[in-house]
Amino acid sequence: MNEQAPEAALSNLLAEDRTFPPSAEFAAAANLTADAYERAEADPEAWWAEQARRLSWSTPFTQVLDFSDAPHATWFADGKLNVAYNCADRHVEAGNGDKVAIHWEGEPGDARTITYSQLKDEVSKTANALLSLGLNAGDRVAIYLPMIPEAVFSMLACARLGLAHSVIFGGFSAEALRTRIADASARLVITSDGQYRRGSAVPLKAAVDDAVATEGSPVEHVLVVNRTGLDVAWTEKDIWWHDLVDEQSTEHVPEGFPAEQPLFILYTSGTTGKPKGILHTSGGYLTQVAFTHHAVFDLKPETDVFWCTADIGWVTGHSYNVYGPLANGATEVIYEGTPNTPDEGRHWEIIDKYGVTIYYTAPTLIRTFMKWGAEIPARYKLDSLRVLGSVGESINPEAWMWYRTHIGHDRCPIVDTWWQTETGAMMISPLPGVTATKPGSAMRALPGIAAQIVNDEGVPVGHGEGGYLVIAKPWPAMLRTIWGDDERYRDTYWSRFASHGYYFAGDGAKYDSDGALWLLGRVDDVMNVSGHRISTTEVESALVAHPSVAEAAVVGANDALTGQGIVAFVILRGDATARVADGGPAAGETLVAELRKHVATQIGPIARPRQIMIVPELPKTRSGKIMRRLLRDVAENRDLGDVTTLQDSAVMGLITSGLSTGKSDA
Ligand code: ATP
Ligand code: MG
Repeated sequence: MNEQAPEAALSNLLAEDRTFPPSAEFAAAANLTADAYERAEADPEAWWAEQARRLSWSTPFTQVLDFSDAPHATWFADGKLNVAYNCADRHVEAGNGDKVAIHWEGEPGDARTITYSQLKDEVSKTANALLSLGLNAGDRVAIYLPMIPEAVFSMLACARLGLAHSVIFGGFSAEALRTRIADASARLVITSDGQYRRGSAVPLKAAVDDAVATEGSPVEHVLVVNRTGLDVAWTEKDIWWHDLVDEQSTEHVPEGFPAEQPLFILYTSGTTGKPKGILHTSGGYLTQVAFTHHAVFDLKPETDVFWCTADIGWVTGHSYNVYGPLANGATEVIYEGTPNTPDEGRHWEIIDKYGVTIYYTAPTLIRTFMKWGAEIPARYKLDSLRVLGSVGESINPEAWMWYRTHIGHDRCPIVDTWWQTETGAMMISPLPGVTATKPGSAMRALPGIAAQIVNDEGVPVGHGEGGYLVIAKPWPAMLRTIWGDDERYRDTYWSRFASHGYYFAGDGAKYDSDGALWLLGRVDDVMNVSGHRISTTEVESALVAHPSVAEAAVVGANDALTGQGIVAFVILRGDATARVADGGPAAGETLVAELRKHVATQIGPIARPRQIMIVPELPKTRSGKIMRRLLRDVAENRDLGDVTTLQDSAVMGLITSGLSTGKSDA
């Protein structure tokens, strides 16, 4: 298939013929109908202006997009708005002050209900506290907090004052914190004494002490929430939240800021290397997160209870725990802890407790639930659910089917949403009341988004072909630059297809024979086997389709014969793990042989893995993405590169020792 244009394509190997249209009832009540695509296509700027008018502007905009300084775009630039006013005050003014904004659930089982009028008061108090510390619009604030309400108050207080926040994931080390604080010159850090993780209180502020103690640190104050009561060291920069914020007035008049006022800096997950400080601004970002939250989840703010499981340290937590749902006046759940504390049913218990109707999570978690077994969710009702979402990686078709069956009870549309820290909001996804979904496919660009798949020359590929995923036109929530490194911004995203003016996202994708869009992983991970360009995603999905496999990671390793050979690392499902453990090495070898054959029959002999390793864990970033780069090093027996964004560095030791015991089939 690659003979005519060897550079043009990514192989299209996996075929999927199951489709799931929405029920007639769901479609009839859906927020968006099929005509949205045509309306947006006919006039994308008018479409986005219409979405922007769903927000409240203190000064209405007259301009929409300006891309004359490409690759720098502005959206709605002469308009002014206050992002926090949009997320709290306007709902109170509309008469919804008593409506629940946040059902917060702490890991130890404590809970807090926050209405929209309480949210407005808490955000106003926090804003007054930040003003008392001498912060001015345009300054940066670092937020290093667990998933507690104060995290939301802090983010919105920054937004209210025109300060840019930089949220740093609470699992990161003092070193990661120090570099991010320095990169953004943050004047204030907001943290807590500690946080609950897997049933115990662990320190958090200690890392801030370390990071701030550095000579020349820009940090003037550290505001500390008392979450756990752990003993903490105290310095003259430190102020307790309850001493400062609780004393403040609930009165604060929000000022309108220009649409292009910086809203936040957020560092990418670091799956492929050194994290980049992605800068997002206000009006365009809020427009697209609010619109996508409304359209893709079919949000009915009066009746839905929305739950996004992402940490606020990631873009998903920013866009769909804070800005999207609150701009839309939704009721949402925020959960502090891990999914297996106190037991593996915690998420399902929370869904039943609050009557969650829309649940948005990541494939890594879905595969973990698969590994734990379907009998766990089967103990819960889960009958309030009506829409399920997925984000972060490709969802393997079998994980999608498992999600649909065991969580959605064959009743809930699934939206697989592709987007990035850089895109700010969802870009490619089904619309739940319109799209007949295919398991594992993100299906189609959202209305108003110009996503395309192109070959090496930038020419769009046809149905049944793969290539590079590009965005051909600016979109409202796009990143504006990389903080402090505009050259890296141009190089990273705009140089590959500079002559076309395309944003290149780094991901490979294909259209299937019906034109549905499938994400195929990062182009840097594409394997070249005897001249065939094979995506890691398709081989992984074939492995996960085997009943013994819960999760798989695939890499290409140098191979004298074929260029690259496919090396797979698999985690087994609970019952298969027990069988292999009981049966000893022979049982492992039999299963590995069976898996290699399974891949060959599912997608073709060219994709048969050279080697398969059964492993207990896979190396993942803190946001749960598989780090294939490290596995490639293992497969090629190189020294391990940078592992600072790795979730558990012990995992690599486990995997390397497994390799030397030869649990593989070469
Ligand atoms: P870095 O850019 O530092 O390497 P990262 O790309 O992992 O880190 P994020 O912005 O959190 O950081 O992740 C965006 C990437 O996640 C996308 O480019 C894509 O590879 C992957 N992704 C997100 N959603 C999906 C999805 N629904 N299907 C397939 N892949 C997805
Ligand atoms: Mg990325």
